[in-house]
Amino acid sequence: MRLLCTNDDGILAYGLECLVRAAEPLGEITVVAPDREQSATSHSLTLHHPLRPVKRGERKYQVDGTPTDCVMLAVEALMEQRPDYVLSGINHGQNMGEDVLYSGTVAAAMEGLALGIPSIAISFAGGDLRADVSLLDEQVDILTPLLAHLTSLPRFPAHTLLNVNLPPRRAGDIRGVRLTRLGRRVYSDSLRPMEDPWGRRIYWIGGGSINWEASGVGSDFRAVDDGYVSVTPLHLDLTHRDMLDSAESWWRDL
Ligand code: MN
Repeated sequence: MRLLCTNDDGILAYGLECLVRAAEPLGEITVVAPDREQSATSHSLTLHHPLRPVKRGERKYQVDGTPTDCVMLAVEALMEQRPDYVLSGINHGQNMGEDVLYSGTVAAAMEGLALGIPSIAISFAGGDLRADVSLLDEQVDILTPLLAHLTSLPRFPAHTLLNVNLPPRRAGDIRGVRLTRLGRRVYSDSLRPMEDPWGRRIYWIGGGSINWEASGVGSDFRAVDDGYVSVTPLHLDLTHRDMLDSAESWWRDL
């Protein structure tokens, strides 16, 4: 089995190292990852300058581009054969609820899916990674059997990517795996007004507190909070199907 590993935290990120460690027993790993932090770049594609892959080892490349660029380059140019799966992560931080709309980690899996390759995004739902590095290490033992299971499904769900979030707990305290839906995040104080060194007003997006809707039954947030690995199936079709029926009346009197 050929596995493409990428991420949005950059090729030096510890989470990527952990993903490779977790996936190594399952097949041949190729790493193609951004040369720098690309978190929250979503599904952006670099059109206005060329991409320069630099070989950093056997089947390992860094790219001066986005996670989406990396997957496209890997599949279309760098790998001799297409990968059987695209694995993206382990992201330093959760990707639940609306986070998936900003996430470069999830976007890399979306790109894999768009190229027709079954794809899995994996995020570590811990806060400060400096404090949690040993917890991330422990996820490796959880992730290997999970990935082994998912990649051996007789039929990986078509037109679907799996968004995995790992709870920030010791491996022994993780209670199992739950299939979930996206929750809804409640943002607060996520835009900070500040002053630059010259006294001019600037704004910094980030920080704030993370909360989610109280009625989060069956959600990714709920599962992780309860100590489960959350697996959310996502698809790329954003069509609001119920709306197609209810909005029919809009045109009736035209
Ligand atoms: Mn990230």
